[in-house]
Amino acid sequence: MKNYLILLFLFSFIFCSCDSEKSNTEKDYLKPGSDTVVKSYTSGDPHKLVESYPDFLDSVSNNYLYWRDGTKMVYDDGNKSKSHDKKLNDPDIEDMLSQEYIIGSNWIIPPPENFDPGRIRYEPFFLKMYGNNSGEVSNNLVNIEWVDGSNVKFTKVNGASDQLIKVVEELRKLPGEFRKYLVNPGGTFLWRNIAGTDRLSNHSFGNSIDINTKYSDYWLWSKSLEYKNRIPIEIIKIFEKHGFIWGGKWYHYDTMHFEYRPELLK
Ligand SMILES: [Zn+2]
Repeated sequence: MKNYLILLFLFSFIFCSCDSEKSNTEKDYLKPGSDTVVKSYTSGDPHKLVESYPDFLDSVSNNYLYWRDGTKMVYDDGNKSKSHDKKLNDPDIEDMLSQEYIIGSNWIIPPPENFDPGRIRYEPFFLKMYGNNSGEVSNNLVNIEWVDGSNVKFTKVNGASDQLIKVVEELRKLPGEFRKYLVNPGGTFLWRNIAGTDRLSNHSFGNSIDINTKYSDYWLWSKSLEYKNRIPIEIIKIFEKHGFIWGGKWYHYDTMHFEYRPELLK
């Protein structure tokens, strides 16, 4: 009996300590219409970064991401108990990959609380690839003809502009009823912080495009965080096919926003 009690004590201790290491946002979700479990926290796979950005990244080993220029970045800072806000404001590269982006139509609607895959970004990583300031980023921008015939500027770094050209070609093949979402794009490059934060928007790097804001919804425009979306899945699938994530799959939704982030689509 005494041994049994000691074992019980040890087991409860082990389970309690596991729980206490979980961050408050960690939870698993069942993907609608399937048995697939979506993890809101994974340790990610840094090799996906190397595969996605071969012009810059060489390899991964021993918790370091090795760049082709001979420098390295720490992958995991070891802090496993960050709140969602802390992950947004003080992320490491691991945090950036810690939420699974769900490709296609079977994503969770509305997105669970603080489920923002792709919204956590380790800024030095993007600055190093796309440019450290507005001038450096601008040097990498090229003009692309958007669906409505207007010109948009997009970075050629990582082949992002080539991918956007493929997106445009496919969007143009959509039936006429989709046209209204694709005229008057909201914008691409703009060196700026995200509203109300000290963090750079990915529009600063020239790898993001906002489509027509008239049919878009953004969590900061609404008084509550109640999820809203009017963008058809056909448009989203075309972007995803070519390496772009969509901000409409975030709890902090931004349905006009598409961002070149191929590492989250592998
Ligand atoms: Zn945007």
